[in-house]
Amino acid sequence: MTRPVRVAIVGAGPAGIYAADALLKSEVAQDPGVSIDLFERMPAPFGLIRYGVAPDHPRIKGIVKALHQVLDKPQIRLFGNVDYPNDIGLDDLRSFYDAVIFSTGADADRALDIPGIDLEGSYGAADFVAWYDGHPEVPRTWPLNAEKVAVLGVGNVALDVARILAKTADELLPTEIPDNVYQGLKANKALEVHVFGRRGPAQAKFSPMELRELDHSPNIEVIVNPEDIDYDQGSIDTRRANKQANMVASTLENWAIRDVGDRPHKLFLHFFESPVEVLGEMGEVVALRTERTELDGTGNVRGTGTFTDWDVQSVYRAVGYYSEELSKLPFDVGSGTVPHEAGRVISGGEHMASVYVTGWIKRGPIGLIGHTKGDANETVACLLEDRAAGRLPAPEHPAPDAVVAFLEGRGVRYTTREGWHRLDAHEQALGAARGRERIKVVEREAMLDASGAPAPAGGTPAGS
Ligand SMILES: Cc1cc2nc3c(=O)[nH]c(=O)nc-3n(C[C@H](O)[C@H](O)[C@H](O)COP(=O)(O)OP(=O)(O)OC[C@H]3O[C@@H](n4cnc5c(N)ncnc54)[C@H](O)[C@@H]3O)c2cc1C
Repeated sequence: MTRPVRVAIVGAGPAGIYAADALLKSEVAQDPGVSIDLFERMPAPFGLIRYGVAPDHPRIKGIVKALHQVLDKPQIRLFGNVDYPNDIGLDDLRSFYDAVIFSTGADADRALDIPGIDLEGSYGAADFVAWYDGHPEVPRTWPLNAEKVAVLGVGNVALDVARILAKTADELLPTEIPDNVYQGLKANKALEVHVFGRRGPAQAKFSPMELRELDHSPNIEVIVNPEDIDYDQGSIDTRRANKQANMVASTLENWAIRDVGDRPHKLFLHFFESPVEVLGEMGEVVALRTERTELDGTGNVRGTGTFTDWDVQSVYRAVGYYSEELSKLPFDVGSGTVPHEAGRVISGGEHMASVYVTGWIKRGPIGLIGHTKGDANETVACLLEDRAAGRLPAPEHPAPDAVVAFLEGRGVRYTTREGWHRLDAHEQALGAARGRERIKVVEREAMLDASGAPAPAGGTPAGS
């Protein structure tokens, strides 16, 4: 083959961009060369970095800079506002590319099956996160009338949600939050946020740094009940084996023994409380019922039969993200991932020729942005191995213009890398006008307009 290897990557989040980077750093990038098209359903790239990471986490910006450098490589094209499969399907992709990598991540809430979870005032963390991060597909307003709020889960997303609920809107104003989010948070009535974990301090999934950050707000008093500090042999083993878990447990211990200060918003971290029911009146949340648990010696817990009703008016479940099933690909409902072997998609026990996965759709919704780099390297290594072994069927239409003609023929209003640069500059200019680094544009149409995405000349509208 003398032409460059053509690879489609569906999903321009960190995993997809790291996969592009791995391809560009591989030997085939030199000979015969690679040409990569990234298809992204949002008008802007970066996935959960834009629509998941909390706005008060500016240290992520360094990662964004590195991902930008990859995106700017001449061998890469970005087709934003293009949805798989509505705008382009698997057979289409296979007809244009030697290989297709799916890196579609996860953006929904994993279900929590307890009575009352669907009451008014009970929310999934993913929806709330999408709201405060200015995702176009969620309503512009969010009801923040509750004075006492419960957050279920003891991972970093639970911390993000609890922190955003407990901070004041003005603390978040210097960040890139959109105007509607600032206005919404200004009306937030929350004075107490209660975070609940089924297990103990040694089993919490917080990152040490994220946990310590909670205490940096001048408005948030973090409170841990000394009775919630408990360890069994399993917990002691975990602390010995896992430095991060040990640091988290030490921080929690320190907070449990200090005096409670007078910062206006109280954020309670409760352990050994298993949520069993959201209680409602007239269809609305009025309390959360938990069952006290105790350690069983192995680091797991069992119920004690003692129940507590917590006076809260809203409940956020942060019990994990869940991926969307992808058309024409196998899907494991339990893990919410595409079955694979080292990134090769496996269907009916066979590798689906030329189809690969990486990132959260491959591994499940666990781990930080940096972890998706290792995923991508593994997947790309398999792809290159398959190419070397002659296992990639040749596409029918490998010319780079063919897919452009296809999208235009279908009437897809797609954005490009240059368009993203325009939107990026526009958001920065909006921020600069008000002394902020950036203000996000929320509406999809406004994003497309700021990107300069030309309205399609005609053709069959996509999805028809
Ligand atoms: C609330 C939250 C906060 C987080 N905070 C941090 C943090 O502070 N630091 C950190 O390191 N990590 C953080 N993470 C983890 C980090 O976001 C993930 O590790 C990472 O984003 C996973 O990358 P991904 O590319 O697999 O998925 P994603 O980031 O989800 O990217 C997937 C991309 O695919 C696109 N897509 C999906 N379906 C389709 C389709 N059908 N067609 C076309 N495109 C599609 C999506 O729009 C998206 O752009 C956080 C995660 C969450 C949920």
